[in-house]
Order: sequence, then structure tokens, then C-alpha cells
Amino acid sequence: MAKRVADDDAAACTETNNKRIRSESETSAATAAGSDRRSVALVHSGAYIRACSRLPRMPERAILIATLMEAYGLHKHLQIVSPRLATADELMMFHTREYIEFLEQGCPEQDSDEESSDDERNDRKIGETRAQRFGLELDCPPFAGIYEYAQAVAGATLTAAELLMDSNEAHTIAINWHGGWHHGRPDCAAGFCYVNDAVLGILALRRRFDRVLYVDIDLHHGDGVERAFEHSDRVACVSLHKHAPGFYPGTGVLSDTGRGRGKGYTVNFPVADGLTDSQLAHIVQALVELAHERFQPNVIVLQCGVDTLVTDPYAAFNVTPVGVEQAVQSVLACKLPTLVLGGGGYHSPSVAKCFTSVTAHAILELEPLARSIPEHDFFEQYSPDYGLRISPSPSRPTLNTDAAIAAQLATIRGAAFQTAQ
Ligand SMILES: [Zn+2]
Repeated sequence: MAKRVADDDAAACTETNNKRIRSESETSAATAAGSDRRSVALVHSGAYIRACSRLPRMPERAILIATLMEAYGLHKHLQIVSPRLATADELMMFHTREYIEFLEQGCPEQDSDEESSDDERNDRKIGETRAQRFGLELDCPPFAGIYEYAQAVAGATLTAAELLMDSNEAHTIAINWHGGWHHGRPDCAAGFCYVNDAVLGILALRRRFDRVLYVDIDLHHGDGVERAFEHSDRVACVSLHKHAPGFYPGTGVLSDTGRGRGKGYTVNFPVADGLTDSQLAHIVQALVELAHERFQPNVIVLQCGVDTLVTDPYAAFNVTPVGVEQAVQSVLACKLPTLVLGGGGYHSPSVAKCFTSVTAHAILELEPLARSIPEHDFFEQYSPDYGLRISPSPSRPTLNTDAAIAAQLATIRGAAFQTAQ
């Protein structure tokens, strides 16, 4: 049974979710008190990277991101905060008890049947049928440690959200590059997403912040988050994504603008293949400025999926880290507390390059990083050029005309966030 999140649910959060990490935030407040500079925290630990590395479809992504950032020396510019694990009660703030208990019991892996007895094979068959009920098949296969992974990724986003909630500064940024799993549904896994940490993070933030702006720049529509809050006028969801016949998840058309009290607080910007850096940056800037002006959010959650990159196996957009950096800069220009999450991205070296560049340039505002990747343990992953840059493809023209983009923006400007205040 699908569970939707009403505003009241957020207000009804229990104290069990209230474990704050005051020492970090107090340190942060002390170091930046009285200045206008950003305070930037990265949720990171070795145990967290190991938990994320259990993901079957991207076993090396988390370690590549962490090691490339370290190789460029970014950690010394960041407040590194060790994440906590989410509790079952916290996961059930959005997910159903049945789904979480199934994960907790440990679901069967899809191993070979060799050397199994008939009884073992039958038991496994029953387990697999139950797993399928919870979406644990195809692009979300079950794996050993699935519950620990769910606890880790959700706990990391909650840790980042709590940093923002505890901060007394206007412009605190908290990053969880290994979160942003926006397709997760209350009662099942979907589209590589086992647990919807983005929804859980927003629910946590609503305990302190009245209006939450969610911005999703993943290649795919942020359907799980949109469905969770489509009835809310306190959580606005803005998603730019590819929309084409047969392309997952198939939702997110321009005319979907929310329901009931939430009408006008969902903004969808569907685009076609070939989207360029400048188009991405232009659209995100226009949407964020509109949302900032009319909705007047108190906090922003940015889902920064990078399956938009030209090098991604989806081969859809023609985006490079430069376009992603500009989009992130538009969000940070609001100077609001911001929770930055990762998301899709299936060419792991490219994801590591992009998140490293975004962290250095858009978030920390450092000088441009060296173009040649520093030698480190995972250096060979960046062959053959060992360069940080990613170039757009000359053979992937954009199918998005400036006129079509302007027309969609005009439609959105005509209706979005009109009843906010
Ligand atoms: Zn995606």
C-alpha cells in the first residue's frame, strides 16, 4: 500500500529522530561566526564508503569519489562528519513497516543453485518471490548487507540534514554524495533506489524549516520524491529530466504541477536528448530564481544526479561537469542552508570527476583544480587520458531548441508557486 507524506507527518516526528550532532555544528558555528563565508560539511567515513560499495551495480563508485576528492586535497577544506545509521523507526517515517522488516530479515541473494539441496532451492524460490513483491529484482537486485546499506545511506542523509538544522549560520552546506536515491517508494525499491533518503532528509528538515525547496537535476524524473510531497504546499519539488517514450520512469510532464493543496508546488521541466551545459545551466537558474522569489524557501535540498554526463552509459545528454557546476552555483546563489545529495551516474570515474569538480569549484569556490589527476591508489581508473576534464560530444546535437525551452519556462512562470506566502 502506497504511503504518502502529509505535512502533519513531518510535524509528528518523534524524538527518536532527534539525535543531533551538536559538537560538529558548534565547531562550525564558532569557526565561521561573523563571516559571510560558506560552512561546508561532507558526510564521510571509511565504514560509510564500505557500506555504499555493497551496491551491486556500482561497487567502485563510492570509493572513487572519496579517493579522488582526497587526492585533490579537498578534505582539508571540508568539515568531515562521520554519519550515523538510520534506525528502523526512521526508515519507516516514509517506508512501510512490511518493506523495512523484509530488508531487516535479510533477503536472498541471486546466487547460483549449484550445491543446494531441493529444500534450500525451494526456500530460496519463496524468498525470491517475496523479494520481487518489494521490487528487489532487475535493476534493484537483492544483495548481502542490504539492510545495513539502507541504514547507512539514509543515516548519512539524516546526519547531513541535522547539521543544517543545528547550524546557526545562514549558509551552511551539507553534502552526502552517496545519497539522492529519488525513485525509492514507500513499499518497494525502484530504479536503483532501495531507500528514499531524499524524502527522509526532507521530512527531517521540515522539523525546523517551514518551506523546503527540492531541486532535482538527475537525468531521470524525481518521481519518488514528487509523489511523496505532491499534496504539500510546504515542500516544492522542481525536476529537470529527460522525458521520452519508454524512458524510465515515464512521469514528470510539464502539466503535472501537484495536487490539492500542493497544486502549483510541483514543477516539471522535461527535455529531450542532447541537452548542453549552457541549456542545463540556463534552465536551472531560471527555475531556482523563480522558486526562490515566489516560494521563499527556508532550505534547499539539491539532488545532483550526474547520469546527465556525456560519458554516462545512458548516452542521453551532452552535459559536462562545467554545466553541473553552473547549475549547482545557481542553487547556492540563494544563500540558504542547502543539503546536497548525489544520485544517478553510472560511469564511476566520470561521477568521481564531476563530484570532485563541483565540490571544489561550485561549493568551496576554490581555484581551478589541476587538469591532470594526481597519482593515487585508483589512478589507473582514469586511463587513458588521466585528465579531470570531460569534453562534450560534437556528435550529439541537442534536440532542445531555445524556443521550446523558452516556451516551457513561460508556461511555468505563468502558474508555479502562485499561492505561496
Ligand atoms: Zn537517474
